[in-house]
Amino acid sequence: MALFSVGDAATHRIGDPQCSTCSDEYPEPCRCGGLMHATATGEEDPDGNLVLVTRCDGCGRSEDDLDQV
Ligand SMILES: [Zn+2]
Ligand SMILES: [Zn+2]
Repeated sequence: MALFSVGDAATHRIGDPQCSTCSDEYPEPCRCGGLMHATATGEEDPDGNLVLVTRCDGCGRSEDDLDQV
């Protein structure tokens, strides 16, 4: 299965809904029909939530990109 990188992790598996590299509760379905993968950065935002880097294996956008539509 093909791999792609999200943040520091280069072992996300394209099209795998059980991607074991992803953070908890990812991958999520993207509106393009692909899967949104997420890698934890090891940092926290001011509210104490883990900061994630997200990227879709279909369209290559992040969740932040999609929010701006
Ligand atoms: Zn993944
Ligand atoms: Zn997408």
